[in-house]
Amino acid sequence: MLIRTHTCGELRDTHVGQTVNLSGWVNAYRDHGNLIFIDLRDRYGLTQLVFDPEDANEAGAANTGDKHAHTGMMGDADKLRNEDCIAVRGVVRIRRGGENPKLPTGKVEIVVQQLDVLSKTDNPPFLPDDNSTLPNEEIRLKHRYLDLRRPSMQKVLGTRSKAMQVIRNYFAGENRFLEVETPILYKSTPEGAREFLVPCRNMPGTFYALPQSPQLFKQILMMSGCDRYMQICRCFRDEDPRADRQPEFSQVDLEMSFVRRDQITEMMEGFVRRFWKEMCGYEVPTIQRMSYRDAMEDYGIDRPDTRYDLKIKDISTFAARTEFGVFKSVLEKGQDRPRFNSKRGVVKAMRVPGGADKLTRKITDGYSSLAQRFGAGGVAVVKVIKAEDGSPKLDTGIAKFLEPLKADFIREVGAQIGDTVLFVADTYAIATKAIGELRQQVARDMGMIPKPGAEGGPWNFLWVLDFPMFEKNKETGKWIAMHHPFTAPRDDQRDLFVNADVNDDDTLESIVSAGYDIVLNGSEIAGGSVRIHDRAVQAKVFQLLGLSPEQAKEKFSFLLEALSYGAPPHAGIAFGLDRLIMHICGTDNIRDVIAFPKTQIGADLMTRAPSKATDAQLKDLHVASTWVEKPS
Ligand code: ASP
Repeated sequence: MLIRTHTCGELRDTHVGQTVNLSGWVNAYRDHGNLIFIDLRDRYGLTQLVFDPEDANEAGAANTGDKHAHTGMMGDADKLRNEDCIAVRGVVRIRRGGENPKLPTGKVEIVVQQLDVLSKTDNPPFLPDDNSTLPNEEIRLKHRYLDLRRPSMQKVLGTRSKAMQVIRNYFAGENRFLEVETPILYKSTPEGAREFLVPCRNMPGTFYALPQSPQLFKQILMMSGCDRYMQICRCFRDEDPRADRQPEFSQVDLEMSFVRRDQITEMMEGFVRRFWKEMCGYEVPTIQRMSYRDAMEDYGIDRPDTRYDLKIKDISTFAARTEFGVFKSVLEKGQDRPRFNSKRGVVKAMRVPGGADKLTRKITDGYSSLAQRFGAGGVAVVKVIKAEDGSPKLDTGIAKFLEPLKADFIREVGAQIGDTVLFVADTYAIATKAIGELRQQVARDMGMIPKPGAEGGPWNFLWVLDFPMFEKNKETGKWIAMHHPFTAPRDDQRDLFVNADVNDDDTLESIVSAGYDIVLNGSEIAGGSVRIHDRAVQAKVFQLLGLSPEQAKEKFSFLLEALSYGAPPHAGIAFGLDRLIMHICGTDNIRDVIAFPKTQIGADLMTRAPSKATDAQLKDLHVASTWVEKPS
């Protein structure tokens, strides 16, 4: 076999006259009478090969002295097809057919003297060509080896590999984080999602759980004196299918000892700055901070997309003065300070600049269906148009109810001629959620989301801080930790927390945690918290979450014990690696940034995982299946 001397992306006019060996795949094949042109492709690029009996004989004669050797080679070249894997030896010359400025190797071509056909291709289900129409994703995933040959996919793999290098350099290199691997065979962690279980043959009837994250191991590492920990790790969550989720995904997992919130946010901001600089040459400015409360009030979501300027306003006080029945009935039970548990009502408004023209009746009718999906009754609409005398006039929708208070209304929402104002009235939780979702849809409909520039972006980063410690699970009515149960209350909340009673909903809802997220363009790219390092505080959290002392001991005795032997104050965070790469590569499809992803229902179409276990395997594992095959 010819061993390559160069890659397919390497040769330039400075190599002219040299004899080189290249290996790769036939990317394109052109037969020009007795000349054959091939674009040879490998991970690094494309190089043009020429099979020319005349030139090849001239060049080759010097080497082999055999004038007839090339007849066989021309015959083999003639039979080459796209995606055959070959190696060649030849001489670099300036392209006779003129330069191809699109290729870095576009000045030269190789006159082939020797061809090794390393592996022929059967008729492939598709060609890995970014310029032609690709088959559907199912076929691409089934033949992932072909799909990954595409230059754009190779680029993503390269970006991901570089990202991991930048991450390691920053944390493990410069900042002396210790890279530690934590177990994959683990036990249940209370982070909310359903878990994957692995039956344990040697301890019949017991199961490992695959980690949702290495949360407790990294905390234990702090208690073990590791000081700073990092890991690029795989996490597993058996969640319901969603387009942007994978059952296994990668996190950049981090933890630091002897820090409070500001030290960790500073370290992470430094990382974000380094990462964007090295990955796409972008200088991240100081990351703005926003409280959870403000995010929910102004944007209706805890991960606001701040690339566009659409704000939500609570206009309950004004709305109570109108005669509009829906507003009245929602506000009847009185207004309240914003509380998620509250059954009382609010009226939220969003001014859409320039919406009067763009948001047609059909579009705004669709908004009502959207709001209904989140439990709201619908969306009320009013347009601000120009009256004949040039003054603002309220039109359509609920205009007649607002007309008597027009001047106040316009002042209240800052409306201008040409705007549409949208309203959702409901309990605080429903109205906030519904109008938050609506805001994103309006931004899409109004074309407010900026298109990425040459370097990607625009990148709007945001710290969201001061999350509530607890929230009520809608289905069970029980209190759960908003981040996870190892998150500490913010320093100034300690007294409130220590005195909190599990039945005191008002207090529990108001306790603020020392958690933080980094949000980028409306998606959460990292989340973490200052942790509890005091055993009594941890025990109290378990109690408030409804765990009896016995249950807490059964599940977390190792943590509670470790907390009893001199645990340092510590804090951590985890970045979603797949999300980071999606942002850098400008794709919305998580499967495009993972070499071997799973489908929405968790299937690997190439290897056909998951698959059935044999009866013998199940017996060995002491597992019986209750699954009944449905008749087809
Ligand atoms: N373990 C958390 C998560 O996976 C992150 C953290 O708190 O560090 O979301």
